[in-house]
Amino acid sequence: MTICASRIQRTLNAAHADHAANTTGANADYIPSLSTVDPNLFGIAVVTVAGEVIEAGDSRHEFALESISKVFTLALAMEDVGPQVIRAKVGADPTGLPFGSVMALELHGDKPLTPLVNAGALSTTSLVRASTPSQRWQRILKTQRAFAGRDISLSKEVDASEQSTNFHNRAIAWLLYSAGAMYADPMETCEVYTRQCSTMVTTTDLAVMGATLAAGGTNPVTGHRVIRDTYIPRILAEMTMEGLYDTSGDWAYTVGLPGKSGVGGGLLAVAPGRLAIAAFSPPLDPVGNSVRGCAAIAQIAHDLGLNLYQSPTPVRTSQAAPAPPGSST
Ligand code: GLN
Repeated sequence: MTICASRIQRTLNAAHADHAANTTGANADYIPSLSTVDPNLFGIAVVTVAGEVIEAGDSRHEFALESISKVFTLALAMEDVGPQVIRAKVGADPTGLPFGSVMALELHGDKPLTPLVNAGALSTTSLVRASTPSQRWQRILKTQRAFAGRDISLSKEVDASEQSTNFHNRAIAWLLYSAGAMYADPMETCEVYTRQCSTMVTTTDLAVMGATLAAGGTNPVTGHRVIRDTYIPRILAEMTMEGLYDTSGDWAYTVGLPGKSGVGGGLLAVAPGRLAIAAFSPPLDPVGNSVRGCAAIAQIAHDLGLNLYQSPTPVRTSQAAPAPPGSST
């Protein structure tokens, strides 16, 4: 069932108005350039599988893609090595621990469990086929651009800020290497991974990227196929398991859509076959998800009836439902 654009626009406007005054959370500061982004910026966008674009607030302001890049590098690696290799070498389970956790690796025999935490993302970046780091980076950038349908580009400032402070990720890359779970040079891979996090997107770009997943791998704005449709359910399953890190289960329970957050303040949710919702607001909750982004997308998904676990039509049963246990009749 399609939802008309004017209803989506009203829903976006309401969510923006309802959450704009929420000032809880704080910008990421472990990456210096992210700490100086204006915390009042707040954009929301929806792109449907028919290519309709609906926006509210600062939806055309560019911000760093950060961890949301992990989804698109996963898509490329899946095209290169196939879903079984991703499952075997990286995994498809939640870690239950923060995105930079080293303990998660130690607890699981050095298997990252998911491509959506830093360890698994580093491993996944190393699986992208390339004979040089520059070729690996160019292929990842080309994939991000194909998903966005626009020539998004690297922020030299964010990249320099992150490359000069990413010691923790470098340590994880060496740990993966020592465990045999890093499939290219660890420091070159860490540099490419850091760069893939430092590309700049608008909230609307992010919604187009998500709508490409919602539309089965064809970008609904450009009409170009970006990824094989049979890989989409695996990518969305990974997003359900770990897209919002330690709160992914709570997000599934309350919102019911695969999602992915980034410490730049971006958040994406995908309603398969229908649309994608993206939001951007820099202040983060303690696990690294945008506070306003989560609140706004949760409200929009609820108001538009997008929860995947909700049957789309009332289920008719031939008999009256049994009384709940413990109730007296
Ligand atoms: N580039 C960031 C990092 O590696 C991405 C983390 C995130 O967005 N959660 O720490």
